[in-house]
Amino acid sequence: MTVMQTFIFEGRSTRVVFGSGSLGQLPQELAHHGIQKALVLTTPEQVMLGQLIHSLLGDKSVGVHGGAVMHVPLESAREAIRIARDLGADGCVAAGGGSTTGLAKAIALESSLPIIAVPTTYAGSEMTPLYGITDGGVKKTGKDWRVMPRGVVYDPDLTLGLPLGISMTSGINAVAHAVEALYAPNRNPIGSLMAQEGIRAILEALPKLYRNLQDAQARSDALYGAWLCGSVLGQMQMGVHHKLCHTLGGSFNLPHAELHTVMLPYALAYNLDTTPQAQHAIGRVLNVQENIPQALQNYCAALGMPTCLRDIGMPEDCLERAADLAVQTPYPNPRPLERGPIRQLLQCAFEGSEPC
Ligand code: NAD
Repeated sequence: MTVMQTFIFEGRSTRVVFGSGSLGQLPQELAHHGIQKALVLTTPEQVMLGQLIHSLLGDKSVGVHGGAVMHVPLESAREAIRIARDLGADGCVAAGGGSTTGLAKAIALESSLPIIAVPTTYAGSEMTPLYGITDGGVKKTGKDWRVMPRGVVYDPDLTLGLPLGISMTSGINAVAHAVEALYAPNRNPIGSLMAQEGIRAILEALPKLYRNLQDAQARSDALYGAWLCGSVLGQMQMGVHHKLCHTLGGSFNLPHAELHTVMLPYALAYNLDTTPQAQHAIGRVLNVQENIPQALQNYCAALGMPTCLRDIGMPEDCLERAADLAVQTPYPNPRPLERGPIRQLLQCAFEGSEPC
């Protein structure tokens, strides 16, 4: 039976420069966006990258602030806002993963300073208007177009040093965005094509990277996939998977990319009967027709990724509370979020048993 499509498509453009060596084009990109005094942001671990960019930008950089940390604590946001103001910055360059882009977004939320992102993981934050700031252990998230980066420079060379573990799990983090985009209530044909291609690009690239982290072609393919997956995260409403990850990550401080990796097969299993397009998109790449959630978990295990909540620091005695939190203000999902099945899902994910 054919079902006639109905959808709304809203085009929002971020200028994207993609390719090996494209970091060299950053000065022109800043000029394109009218930025004269950029503050370069990094994590403490990536300050050297910040210094490199500072030198590249010359008098168009007012300095490097290496204060980005996971989940954007409010104090770190306040400090970065003060530094940007004191240095007279008229824009930010966020060089790093989702934590660094998150810090730039916190500055933009307060000051509307434009962001140029230089992503070095596959998390995808650079393509979304979503932000999160953590205050007193509680992460508040929101959507505001002021925080959407105006430009993104994707240079796969900058990902060559991304360690094995996060290369793998960050890739699955990106896949999770695309999977949920395929069953989002506000999906549209262009977004679905991007999601399918993003899933393909990343799932094909990760085994190659597992064998050789310096595989330049696979690095490029994975980053290309991350762009597509981040784009659909920015456009579409997320479902049960992101709800569970936000709940568990925010309340129990579990590592972001690993958490997405553990949970995705279980979210797919929860939605098994209602999400044929998402199941098919994964099955096609993994060359399996049945039990796609298990096939995805096997794929992750074969690449050394974690497959159970127990192994990434989830306390078992918090599963009841996690189930309570997960069904409060649920995200839209093809199958309603019911406490009993969600509690069961969490137990299975804790133990790493078959996604069912
Ligand atoms: P991250 O940014 O925290 O980076 C993890 C670690 O890897 C850091 O120590 C970082 O310095 C290091 N690193 C990053 N790139 C590297 C490279 N190329 N080489 C060597 N080391 C490198 O991790 P992440 O997974 O990218 O981001 C997670 C955060 O992003 C979470 O807080 C999550 O909530 C947020 N996020 C937000 C959105 C959004 O749309 N707002 C989307 C995805 C993720």
